[in-house]
Amino acid sequence: MARKNRDTDWIADEAVEETPAEPCWLCGRPLGKTVDRFHPIPKSRGGRDTVPVHPICRETIDANFSASELVRHAEMGIALTNNEAVARFVKWVANKPADFHSATKGGR
Ligand SMILES: [Zn+2]
Repeated sequence: MARKNRDTDWIADEAVEETPAEPCWLCGRPLGKTVDRFHPIPKSRGGRDTVPVHPICRETIDANFSASELVRHAEMGIALTNNEAVARFVKWVANKPADFHSATKGGR
């Protein structure tokens, strides 16, 4: 009976690694190493809450919404994925690794 409790050891390890803390607010994928904080209501409009998003998701939001549009969406409870471009992005990014990043703006 010299058996150490290895079995439970690795189970514990795996559980810690595989538990995503918080999913991305926009695309719902687990977050990677780099986490951006996004204001659903822009700071300039009095928004204080932030949500975790991928840097690439944040860029997509910035590229598709103005401050007043964000406020309107937040106040009316409209998901940003109602926007066709954003919906397409979320679909496209769904299979990418969490730390995937590419220049979303064309041209350099
Ligand atoms: Zn995301």
